[in-house]
Amino acid sequence: MTMLRLAASLTAALILNSCSDQAPLQPETAARARAIPLVDHHQHFRSLRTTELYHSHIYKGKTARPNPVAIDADDIIGQLNEAGIKRAVILSLGYWFESPVFGRLPNAHQLVRAENEWTAAEAARFPDRLAAFCSFNPLTDHALRELEWCGSSGKFRGLKMHFGNSKVDIRRPDHAQKVVRVFQAANAARLPMVVHMWTDPTYEEEGAEHATAFLNRILPAAPDVVVQIAHLAGGGRTTEAAFEVFADAIAANDPRTRNLYFDIATSAVPDQLSRADVETLARLLRQVGMDRILYGTDAPVPPNLSAREGWRAFRRLLPLSDEEIMDIADNVAPYMR
Ligand SMILES: [Zn+2]
Repeated sequence: MTMLRLAASLTAALILNSCSDQAPLQPETAARARAIPLVDHHQHFRSLRTTELYHSHIYKGKTARPNPVAIDADDIIGQLNEAGIKRAVILSLGYWFESPVFGRLPNAHQLVRAENEWTAAEAARFPDRLAAFCSFNPLTDHALRELEWCGSSGKFRGLKMHFGNSKVDIRRPDHAQKVVRVFQAANAARLPMVVHMWTDPTYEEEGAEHATAFLNRILPAAPDVVVQIAHLAGGGRTTEAAFEVFADAIAANDPRTRNLYFDIATSAVPDQLSRADVETLARLLRQVGMDRILYGTDAPVPPNLSAREGWRAFRRLLPLSDEEIMDIADNVAPYMR
């Protein structure tokens, strides 16, 4: 079923690309070209261990595989310099080691901790420019212990959770209950959170259900800390239905959305958005208000764009005014002020 849906959405993307309804490029005015984000709110390092794990998954059964290459602080600083961006939020990939996607690892918890430690140590080489976020799979038995360590170590500015990678379905009461416990603990420790909500291809159709469950069950557990929804509530691609649930709640002055922010990482990819897509996105961004929209890139691993190209794609594709583009560039999440 999942593969069928994936095939269907790929076919849809191909049809989209071949028709003339592709999003037109906005003129690159001087003001637009000068607007440079103050902070990249969604970046990753990738240790050699994480890269090897990834390779063992995608090159399974193949003899030839590329040599694993780490992405470290020097690489990300180089990317930021190229884009003219001063600071970045580095989201640990620790949760990869507790992901059902990669199979069960016997020493998963130690590997999560090692990745978190390495990420913090790399970020600490550039303390004026990089801030690390700690991560783990919120469904595991030791999630609360890792959270406690993340907070008390003093090495992290916040937490990252990836519902897709961790196979969290917040519509399920048992999953929601575990995630609520993590949110309550994060709130008590005053740790902001970045949450990647996209789960799998079904999310494209069911994103509104996930967003509604998040709003009703999860968000009230952390009323005092910033919650940054990654990728405008999508992942890889934006899911308008999920984003719209949040936009409607914000427009209705729903108090649960008080500390809610969104990063735009990978939401504007050339050749993947139609004119209707970018018009819907612009409408929803205005409904949310530009002050809640944070620039973010995602790991600079192809097909992801670099920080410079990612920002360029966003400002060329979104039919926003120069002022709106400048507002987004100037936004700094409260946890980075
Ligand atoms: Zn990411």
